[in-house]
Amino acid sequence: MRVFFAILPCIALGSAFAAPALEPPKLRLGDAVEPSSYAVQLTLVPGSESFQGVVDIHIDVRTPSQIIWLNAAQLEISAAAFRPETSAVEPAGVVAGGNDFAGFAFDRPIAGKGVLHIAYKGKISRNSSSGIFQLKESGQWYIYSQFEPTDARRAFPCFDEPGFKVPWEMTLRVPRDDLAVANTPMLSESNEAGGMKTVKFKVSPPLPSYLVAFAVGHFDVVDAGKVGKTPLRVIVPRGKAKEASYAATAIPQLLKLLENYFGIPYPYEKLDSVVMPISNFAMENAGLITYEENMLLADPKRDTINRQQDLATFCAHEMAHQWFGDLVTTAWWNDIWLNEAFATWMETKIAGEWKPEWHLDVTAVNARIGAMHQDSLTSARKIRQPILSNDDIANAFDDITYEKGAAVIRMFESWIGEDQFREGVRLYLKQHAGGNATASDFEAAISTVAGRNIAPELDSFLDQAGLPEVTVTLDCGSDPKLELSQKRALPIGSPGSEGELWKIPVCVAYESDGAAHRECQVLSNAHSEMILAAKTCPARLVANAGETGYYLVNYKGDLLNQLLSDQGRHLGIAERVGVLGDVDALVSTGDYSPGAALRLVPDFAADPNWQVVEAAADLAGLLKADDVPDELHSKAARFVVRIFGQRAADLGWTAQPGESDDTRLLRQKLVPFVASVGGQKELIDQAERLARNWLKTRGGISPDMVRPVLEVAAEFGNRDLFDLLRSAAIQENDHRIRENLLSALGSFRDSALARAALELLVSNNFDAREAFYPLLFGPLAYPETRDVPFAFVRENLDKLLAHLPREVGGDYAANLPMVGGSFCDASHRSEVDSFFRQRVRDYAGGPRNLENVLEEIDLCTAERKKLGPELVAFLQQY
Ligand SMILES: [Zn+2]
Repeated sequence: MRVFFAILPCIALGSAFAAPALEPPKLRLGDAVEPSSYAVQLTLVPGSESFQGVVDIHIDVRTPSQIIWLNAAQLEISAAAFRPETSAVEPAGVVAGGNDFAGFAFDRPIAGKGVLHIAYKGKISRNSSSGIFQLKESGQWYIYSQFEPTDARRAFPCFDEPGFKVPWEMTLRVPRDDLAVANTPMLSESNEAGGMKTVKFKVSPPLPSYLVAFAVGHFDVVDAGKVGKTPLRVIVPRGKAKEASYAATAIPQLLKLLENYFGIPYPYEKLDSVVMPISNFAMENAGLITYEENMLLADPKRDTINRQQDLATFCAHEMAHQWFGDLVTTAWWNDIWLNEAFATWMETKIAGEWKPEWHLDVTAVNARIGAMHQDSLTSARKIRQPILSNDDIANAFDDITYEKGAAVIRMFESWIGEDQFREGVRLYLKQHAGGNATASDFEAAISTVAGRNIAPELDSFLDQAGLPEVTVTLDCGSDPKLELSQKRALPIGSPGSEGELWKIPVCVAYESDGAAHRECQVLSNAHSEMILAAKTCPARLVANAGETGYYLVNYKGDLLNQLLSDQGRHLGIAERVGVLGDVDALVSTGDYSPGAALRLVPDFAADPNWQVVEAAADLAGLLKADDVPDELHSKAARFVVRIFGQRAADLGWTAQPGESDDTRLLRQKLVPFVASVGGQKELIDQAERLARNWLKTRGGISPDMVRPVLEVAAEFGNRDLFDLLRSAAIQENDHRIRENLLSALGSFRDSALARAALELLVSNNFDAREAFYPLLFGPLAYPETRDVPFAFVRENLDKLLAHLPREVGGDYAANLPMVGGSFCDASHRSEVDSFFRQRVRDYAGGPRNLENVLEEIDLCTAERKKLGPELVAFLQQY
């Protein structure tokens, strides 16, 4: 039975109290008041614009206070009171606290334990996937929640920080015909008047607010069996059950592999995987993971290898979080890397263990190369960046946290040894199960099993931004040894300083005296020596063994030539890709000649492995339009066709029966590359014919080639093709097909058509969560259209902002400065700067994104000046 209180208006009552603290907190709530559990009751009706809530929070007021601040956003609070354990009820007035807080003010100071009772109303968003929101599928609304990082406060007044980890008891009042799911199994269900029912759920284990979740709607339920005692279900919008068959097979197998790794059974009573029709994320809510529909579901007839790989890696990621993040939770957002880097590292590890033929270790190398590029900017975050504002929380969900963090974990695993590292992970989980932990706790557990303190080495990567470059010289004197030196890798034109030092576990691999050697040494100083165990000097040596290290290698003397001789066939696939990635990066830092790098392309373009061919194509991308004068573009295209053309022509656009997955993946990369960058007329004409036929018949192209065919056809297409694509996209009900059509609409090289595609962003034809990225950033790929998005944003900012959602990790608006991302001159830089400088302050995470973009423009400008002449000289041969 709950005591009901007088209704109080939702206004600031500041003048009524001699208040010591009517100012809301700046960022954090502090520890004067602590919650010990929540009971939440929400009335949720799909299709309705709002919901009603009642929350009872058991709190301990440790410092007597006349006002209690909680997190709350866009909630209309109608009643509040504190019911102490030992004295009479104290009604509370509500004090407005800006965007993130609500204050509960009392006539006299309150203290001790009791229940804070709050009745309120909130919004169910339709265009943002944050807080409580709803999405439509086949005419039906479905309600979901998404609280990470700071949106639980849109669903209930709460202590919305990860360190407050307590049990939750959820009760959902929903329409009688709907299914309601939450973190825990249902306890009871009872019908009410008015077509509603009350669903009570079991009390949860301790959870931070950001992991609480629920969903309500006309769902169908797919049984995915059990792992141990854990029942697994896939919860899908009505009618989609048959599209969940691959998910229902993959999820139990991946969960089993995770249990084996952690040595701890899955920590919750059940695991539901819930499908959201639109949204660009998956979320690891304890026992109730949410996934975007395109990732989790596929019509078996239209499924692709790419989708299956995405599903496996995303599921492995979110399920790894059930231990790393949910069972043990980061104490504060500065350590969110512990969650995200770990889960990102696990996704390729576990999905790769499940399907070794996918070579996901190479995928991890490519992700590392991408993070290294971002990390070379002086505006890059640290993995463990201090959190001083909500901007910092929004920025914390970036590639540095995920991909650099994962690469650094991979480096330490490889250095310490896989088995020992796993033991350290298990120890860490055991020590902190059910609670919170920090980076130091993790380091302590790994150090215990490693038998050495690894904190100094790991901290040098966590608390310092930037990419180390290790220069390696082989000295074949009496004792073979390596001369090692390190500096910060900085792109041409960077204003940064090279003087920073890391404690880098450098691991090298080589063959000598008929035996394979792998040796590691920590490089702490600017210069050092590494005496090799071998007696005979090796002919070849990889200075980043297995490509698991997070450092760029600058090979001196003949080392690189030796490595790349014989088309690098003596190297593993990951090493071939990693070494080519190093060459590419060294061209950017001015340490390797672009002409020499381009001369490597033919050897690796012929590689049997598609990932190596992709790396060779990336290297050919050095001939990008910015660095090459217009009159030489045709020569650059000829270079691409001469080297890759025959192989692309042999593959063609059309899949052949009985082909391997590797051949299909090679086709996906190579054929559109030769058509687009090489301008290969025959392939372009074929793409257009296939695209037009597909638009009529929805046939003639294998599912994995639909997107590249449509994109290439659009790139060289005319107004007529644009109109066909646009009306097809507007009429399409299938999310994945619509995604392909939108991607094609963002691929037109004709600037008028690129502009016409952007107009769709401010029409009401598409959800911005689907249309924003392909339409706004697609045109940045070509010199002809790169001005179009910025011009469009300048002219339509207010209209655009009205369409843009807020989603996990912050506002879409924070990404708007990236429309300047492919400019390469000072005057555009200054226009981007002056347009966005003040505005980005209103978009959570925007200021740092603007800094990144401005730095990218500066670097491109400097690189063009430095590399241009040599690229021109190279192209004269073609
Ligand atoms: Zn994650």
